[in-house]
Amino acid sequence: MSASRHPALLSADPELASFVAAEEVLQAQTLRLIPSENYVSAAVLEASGTVLQNKYSEGYPGRRYYEGQQNIDRVEALAIERAKGLFGVDHANVQPYSGSPANLAVYLAFAKPGDTVMGMALPMGGHLTHGWGVSATGSWFRGVQYGVRADTGLIDYDAVRDLALAERPKLIFCGGTALPRTIDFAAFAEIAREAGSILVADVAHIAGLIAGGAHPSPADHVDVVSTTTHKTLRGPRGAMLMCREEHAKAIDKAVFPGLQGGPHNQTTAGIAVALHEAAQPSFTAYAHQVVANAKALAAALLQKGFDLVSGGTDNHLILIDLTGKDVPGKIAAKALDRAGIVVNYNTVPFDPRKPFDPSGIRIGTPSLTSRGLSTEHMPLVADWISRAVDAAAKGDEQALAAIRAEVTDLMAAFPAPGLPLS
Ligand SMILES: *Cc1c(COP(=O)(O)O)cnc(C)c1O
Repeated sequence: MSASRHPALLSADPELASFVAAEEVLQAQTLRLIPSENYVSAAVLEASGTVLQNKYSEGYPGRRYYEGQQNIDRVEALAIERAKGLFGVDHANVQPYSGSPANLAVYLAFAKPGDTVMGMALPMGGHLTHGWGVSATGSWFRGVQYGVRADTGLIDYDAVRDLALAERPKLIFCGGTALPRTIDFAAFAEIAREAGSILVADVAHIAGLIAGGAHPSPADHVDVVSTTTHKTLRGPRGAMLMCREEHAKAIDKAVFPGLQGGPHNQTTAGIAVALHEAAQPSFTAYAHQVVANAKALAAALLQKGFDLVSGGTDNHLILIDLTGKDVPGKIAAKALDRAGIVVNYNTVPFDPRKPFDPSGIRIGTPSLTSRGLSTEHMPLVADWISRAVDAAAKGDEQALAAIRAEVTDLMAAFPAPGLPLS
């Protein structure tokens, strides 16, 4: 069925077309709880697959190193204007290839190799690119890391201040990949001011919530906002860097020519469309529904006896601590996958286990919200997760297959944006 959506691909390369068709079916039939994933609209999908792909455009609108930019300049300028309007910033660069290179450009703009940088530790919920050792950002720079309190699972802002004042880092990153709670950008801004540091809010996970008014905005508090475009923001895979006018030149120079060559114009087009969608009232409703669904799912999981890091969520993300369940994260994640529920295993703060075999699973509600599920479905989702984890403990494959059938059934009633109806 699905391969006929791509007739040229099907006739030129049936083998590859069959993989795409299978992925369409998989995405349609499963319940995707990975908090960094989403479904782009059909319009974003179309914009990302256009002939803009064919054009080289090193430079910025009006200042290119190649001719023939009449249309490309308009596409990129539109994306920039929409980003500035939506996030309330002076300047936006929409060219970073993805979130990690966007962050690397921030280092290039403001720091020198060997400088001290500060971010949240990866096992506490931070991102690799915030100075963690295995990342280039942690081997070329001297990363110092903060975490959360053992008793509350919340960021300890006094400890962040003490570390910042002791280390005086060039850069401080706030934000992360496994943070279920609201980030206090004003508190970080105060600390960065005292320490004389450039403050970067990496809102990759929560950009869509900020755009939709469901999480406070960092725009008035930080020097630079870094974000991916493909998570809650629901655009194509890409990234943006936004800042006040005083940092505009440094950021632009760092992205090109500092780090990248030609921008991916087809992605820029998809970002422009996604930003237009994110400015609509329906997106505001989506952002608030993402949070309402996550709170309802957290409450239902607590009722089922699950431990949640920080006791719940303020945003789209829930970190389940399975330490008390006799099933480690990886085994639970793989069992859930067999039950048609796609999650990722994740460390929990102070995890006694190894990062490749940790104690937690990380889930989130952006994808299911994009498909139209609402709070009334969350007890059922929690029940599936609970039954699947119990089945994993017992090695009960039949129970997992039974859940999978129920999941497929429900998801058929909630078609995903951008995907064919099965
Ligand atoms: C996802 C993410 C990134 C990296 O994005 P990629 O596009 O995967 O490189 C950076 N920072 C944070 C906080 C993220 O969640």
